[in-house]
Amino acid sequence: MASITLDKVGKIYAGGTRAVGDVSIDIADGEFIVLVGPSGCGKSTLLRMVAGLEAISEGTVRIGNRVVNDIEPADRDIAMVFQNYALYPHMSVRQNLAYGLKNRRTPRAEIERRVAQAAAILQIGPFLDRKPRALSGGQRQRVAMGRAIVREPAAFLFDEPLSNLDAKLRVTMRLEIKELQRRLRTTSIYVTHDQLEAMTLADRLVVLNAGRIEQIGTPLEVYRKP
Ligand code: ADP
Ligand code: ADP
Repeated sequence: MASITLDKVGKIYAGGTRAVGDVSIDIADGEFIVLVGPSGCGKSTLLRMVAGLEAISEGTVRIGNRVVNDIEPADRDIAMVFQNYALYPHMSVRQNLAYGLKNRRTPRAEIERRVAQAAAILQIGPFLDRKPRALSGGQRQRVAMGRAIVREPAAFLFDEPLSNLDAKLRVTMRLEIKELQRRLRTTSIYVTHDQLEAMTLADRLVVLNAGRIEQIGTPLEVYRKP
């Protein structure tokens, strides 16, 4: 686990669009931060800069005590969960879970231990030998989370992970993520436009507007305001 520190972070896209400006947040070890705000306010850009999928135009991002501005995504010790699952279609669930660890030359026994643990936490043990196309949307999203968990990363980044699921499943998965958070206590940044997800999951909410922080606080502090 690690803290994440954003210091005056900004993003100007090629062409001159300012997507994010002057964002400073100190995220504590084990804290769950939810980024909310209207479409186009810069949530995804900010998350992608922390992930290393987008260059940082201004300011500094630290994970633990390392400045990660110029560090490759794979070397940042973070795991990202996407809304489109991003599973490898030709691999079984087990292979999807193991793939990133194999690439990192994790010993086989350790891979098996972590896959079994993630499968137990997410209740996907019965599906380990299926291909993603033979799974429901909720099962696919559990596998996507499993891929993040087996990495045992310093932090999780979630990019609207539940927005492709139907309303009923979103409620179930929201509670599962809450339980995951309680068990693992891994530092997390979670982007959503769903107010219930934000209120259920957040230790603190960050409300962005036009690329800047409008409010930051606990769900009660933020949603109590008129
Ligand atoms: P959100 O995730 O809150 O919907 P985004 O981070 O996707 O917001 O977008 C923030 C702003 O940056 C928007 O004005 C969007 O049009 C712009 N933007 C996003 N991606 C790019 C890009 N690759 N090139 C240029 N502008 C972009
Ligand atoms: P790791 O699992 O160690 O992060 P991967 O090599 O599995 O590394 O892939 C990094 C990211 O790139 C994945 O999270 C995934 O979103 C995306 N990706 C790469 N190749 C594919 C693919 N063939 N299908 C779907 N997503 C892919």
